[in-house]
Amino acid sequence: MLKHYSFQKFIDSTSKHPVLLFDFDGTLVELASTPDQVKVKPITKYIIENLAKIFPVGIISGRCLNELKELIAIDGIFYSGNHGVEVEGPGLSFIEPNNSKFRNLILNLIEELKTKLSSYNPLIEDKIYAVGIHYRTIDPQRINDFLFEVTKILDTPLNKNGIKILNGKKVIEVKPPVEWNKGDSVKIIMKHLKNDCAPFYFGDDITDEFAFETVNELNGTSVLISNGNSSTKAKFVLSSINELIGILAQIISEFQ
Ligand SMILES: [Mg+2]
Repeated sequence: MLKHYSFQKFIDSTSKHPVLLFDFDGTLVELASTPDQVKVKPITKYIIENLAKIFPVGIISGRCLNELKELIAIDGIFYSGNHGVEVEGPGLSFIEPNNSKFRNLILNLIEELKTKLSSYNPLIEDKIYAVGIHYRTIDPQRINDFLFEVTKILDTPLNKNGIKILNGKKVIEVKPPVEWNKGDSVKIIMKHLKNDCAPFYFGDDITDEFAFETVNELNGTSVLISNGNSSTKAKFVLSSINELIGILAQIISEFQ
């Protein structure tokens, strides 16, 4: 049974310098029908900006780095895109080298998905180091057929050997066969900060489990944003984005 996270728990665990790391979609912003419809609320931006004046802050997302930076548009924080493949921040610039070798495979797969799935009109997102197959806008009655078609495409020998598949919320992410995830991104940021800090990670989805695991290994605090009973490696839970924003606001007023 997950313990509920609270402002008091944050205060109790601040003997080491906290580093606050967040997933983006579904953690700091509500999910939208398509990823380009997501908006960062002014209060959320204000809170992240002010938190970053007190602690190192990082946002680790499945989105491309550039898109993530554009959406959040706050200077002086760490950004990590493509599930950790790209990491950038004060004094840090990193791209995982093995993922870039698969650019042609990604381009060919995008072409194939667009052609074979055209009757469903899904959003096929080119994320440079990955492909996002978004199906939130597809008629619920056609989703099973759509997923069957996607599986058929991804199951061909050529694709099967060259890719990894991650299932997110109404999105299938297809990545090169390189062992790399959000947990690696946490490690890179923590190493850059000389490991002299305690990581906190807040996330809502399956891909955040890698980060929860790493943060637990580093004796940090892992918090799942969920109103259900998902099985998770996180140690704590918060029921909503609003609850998280409320706690962050309390932290700012305590430490400013
Ligand atoms: Mg998320």
